Amino acid sequence: MNYKEIFDKLEGKLEGFAHLDELARQKQDPFKILISTILSARTRDANTKAATETLFAKYNTPKLIAEADIEEVEELIRKSGFYKVKAARIKEVSKIIQINYDGIVPKNYDELMNLPGVGSKTANCVLVYAFKIPAIPVDTHVHKISNRMGWVKTTKPEQTEAALKKLIPKELWIRLNRIFVKFGQQICLPINPKHEICPIEEICPKDFTMEIKKKSKKKKKKGK
Ligand code: SF4
Repeated sequence: MNYKEIFDKLEGKLEGFAHLDELARQKQDPFKILISTILSARTRDANTKAATETLFAKYNTPKLIAEADIEEVEELIRKSGFYKVKAARIKEVSKIIQINYDGIVPKNYDELMNLPGVGSKTANCVLVYAFKIPAIPVDTHVHKISNRMGWVKTTKPEQTEAALKKLIPKELWIRLNRIFVKFGQQICLPINPKHEICPIEEICPKDFTMEIKKKSKKKKKKGK
């Protein structure tokens, strides 16, 4: 099975769309996609969606968010968790986009990476979901699943991104995150993956080395 066949097979088995994919399909403003990606850190899709909608119902431009009262922004995005840190961050990012970019989200990786608190995953998400530019955002699902499937043997998301870029044909990059996020939410779950209904079970080595190593590292740290 080649990569395209694997992607097709996985996609055929999945239901619905992950939050960022949904925003992209609705052709939402890149600014909303950027803010939603920042809000998505360490929380579930449903919480990200709720926080994004509540915030954008009241403040929907970089200028409005930059000028909004921080405590009100905190309240509006509370559902996304870590809301104090996230509120400060999105206000800062909004201000820079308003002042330095005239309210328009930049379309390139380096400029996105220069925004405060924006890392590789967020920058790549914006490229893929807001601008349809080929990139590979590596979140926890992409990192885990790529290791489980034996495509990469990496410990850090940045290593996974670099390894996947060498492995996967560029025309497929744009599909990878959207498929793996859904796949990780529905079948290749972080805990107790559903091998029995997995459409690629027969070709998957089920390599959990990275996760086992990570767990034992955590245990050792706790034991110190
Ligand atoms: S067989 Fe299991 S570990 Fe492998 S991709 Fe499917 S669900 Fe994930």
